[in-house]
Amino acid sequence: MNSTVYVGLGSNEGDREAQLVSALEALSRIDAVAVLRCSALFESAPVGPPQPRYLNAVVELECSLPPQRLLCILQQIEKDLGRLPRDGRWGPRPIDLDILLWPGELVADPQLQVPHLELHKRRFALEPLAELAPDEEHPVLGLSVTQLLAQLAPQDVQRLEATWWPETPSPVTES
Ligand code: ATP
Ligand code: CA
Ligand code: CA
Repeated sequence: MNSTVYVGLGSNEGDREAQLVSALEALSRIDAVAVLRCSALFESAPVGPPQPRYLNAVVELECSLPPQRLLCILQQIEKDLGRLPRDGRWGPRPIDLDILLWPGELVADPQLQVPHLELHKRRFALEPLAELAPDEEHPVLGLSVTQLLAQLAPQDVQRLEATWWPETPSPVTES
């Protein structure tokens, strides 16, 4: 069964925009995944130890896989794009792919929590998500994405206007 899922992309090492585009292309090549829509790109101050600023975006996927399988695929794409185990949590990395919100799915496993446990605290995730799914409800908190943003203090997150990131991706043709 196909369902819609929102995945957050982040990069703060190397050519950030090129890496986000590569991740998008890799996702498009997965048979069980279709990229439906993309938010704009946002630049944000890092969470955790001092490190370069992030580029962030959120993509809306149609997916016929269960959540754990999608997580494995995201982790493989991170690895293929040069993410090393030493990059670890909250350190600089060429790419970070997080499952943010999956309407109809609630996951609370040691390896995977959906919605993402930090989603409601992070403008760098909520602002791009609000471009795609402003009325989608957080199943635990019972608030829409717009309402979550409204209760959050300002954070250093800026929407970028001039980029070559596709706001609506063109369908990937098989070659
Ligand atoms: P954060 O999760 O706070 O954004 P991070 O993205 O830097 O931090 P990672 O090192 O990328 O953290 O991932 C740590 C672990 O988080 C992964 O091994 C994965 O099992 C787990 N995880 C739990 N929930 C999710 C989710 N919704 N999306 C992606 N990974 C998740
Ligand atoms: Ca993350
Ligand atoms: Ca992650």
